[in-house]
Amino acid sequence: MTHRDTKLETRLLHTGIAEFNPKTGLAPVTLPAVRTSTVRFQNLQALDNVVAQREAGARPSTYGRPGLETHVALEEVFCELEGAKRSFLAPSGLSAISLVFLALLSKGDHVLVADCVYGPVRYLDKTVLRRMGIEVSYCRGTPEDMQAQLRPETRMVYVESPGSLLLEMLDLPALAAFARDKGLTLVTDNTWGAGYAYRPLALGAHVSVVAGTKYVGGHADLMLGAVAVADEALVQQITDTHYALGYTISAEDAWLALRGVRTLPLRMRHHAHSALEICRFLAAKPEVARIYHPAWQEDPGHALWQRDCLGSNGLMSVELKLNYEQGRRFVDALRLFSIGFSWGGFESLVQWVEPPTLKPHSYWQGKGDTTVVRLHVGLEAVEDLCADLEQALAAALA
Ligand SMILES: *Cc1c(COP(=O)(O)O)cnc(C)c1O
Repeated sequence: MTHRDTKLETRLLHTGIAEFNPKTGLAPVTLPAVRTSTVRFQNLQALDNVVAQREAGARPSTYGRPGLETHVALEEVFCELEGAKRSFLAPSGLSAISLVFLALLSKGDHVLVADCVYGPVRYLDKTVLRRMGIEVSYCRGTPEDMQAQLRPETRMVYVESPGSLLLEMLDLPALAAFARDKGLTLVTDNTWGAGYAYRPLALGAHVSVVAGTKYVGGHADLMLGAVAVADEALVQQITDTHYALGYTISAEDAWLALRGVRTLPLRMRHHAHSALEICRFLAAKPEVARIYHPAWQEDPGHALWQRDCLGSNGLMSVELKLNYEQGRRFVDALRLFSIGFSWGGFESLVQWVEPPTLKPHSYWQGKGDTTVVRLHVGLEAVEDLCADLEQALAAALA
């Protein structure tokens, strides 16, 4: 049996591991964090060899910025996860997103962006892209809505599926067909799927961006981004910009991500299982107007989820028939769900969603008379999480 024939879960444990030391015949099970700012060459011939390897497309390092073994191992892991030819590391998810925009777009170019994307993408647009002469149009993430805003200068489609906050499932294969038909590059934010629950490159996307800060790291202890690329021509473009912008991450962060990713399938399955239990619990509550979670059978994206996803996770949003004050009481009363941004760690979190935050999402149909919270269902015992929600609902109505 070759490495290729095994399941992703198995490959995740056998990729990016330490090689045997030829002198001792030993290898550590866990690859050490190789922390160095530069490397030494035994002689000039060794330097020449490395340069020749690099010119042939390999990735040996002559300096600390792109990292050494620990970083290369993590890049290999992201390639496995996403089914990519190459992956690039970035110091945060948002920096991975900005890397792609800056690598693939130039002055005068236009990009179509699904209106369900991670909020700070709009900040990148407002503060940097506009200044660079790159124009952004936001629209519903469907080929029809994208077609309506298509221009001769359109170069790229940028989407996120399921979308931020309301977990709107997009028809990625249809978007990929649209992008190919129009000669556009399709870029997706795959933080939700982390390459395990959803594989955009296999569904036709050219580039997949992941905030490793979330499920890949999995322990709420690092910031990390990655860009995974299937298309050879795009690899060169991103290589150049990644180098020019001087992206680097610490060896310890690469090490933490490698440590975290070994248990990614196990954690995600547990998060997903508990999240469905929470859905069942909440669906029976009269205060719950709607649950946004594509793995939940009543979510409108459920059919697309069944067709395109390989799993799910612990992220959901809940619309509650609570007014503003009751909603705030509910959130403050939660004990096991801490108030906080982010998700994908071991812990349960609740994010208070201010009503105007949902306005730019065309998927949002609410009238502003309800409360929306985003829950990250952590690895706590699900009975305890249900009890916490139960007492907080009672406190909201008291
Ligand atoms: C958190 C997040 C990001 C940004 O990642 P950071 O590491 O916090 O910069 C990007 N996209 C999505 C969908 C996210 O949830």
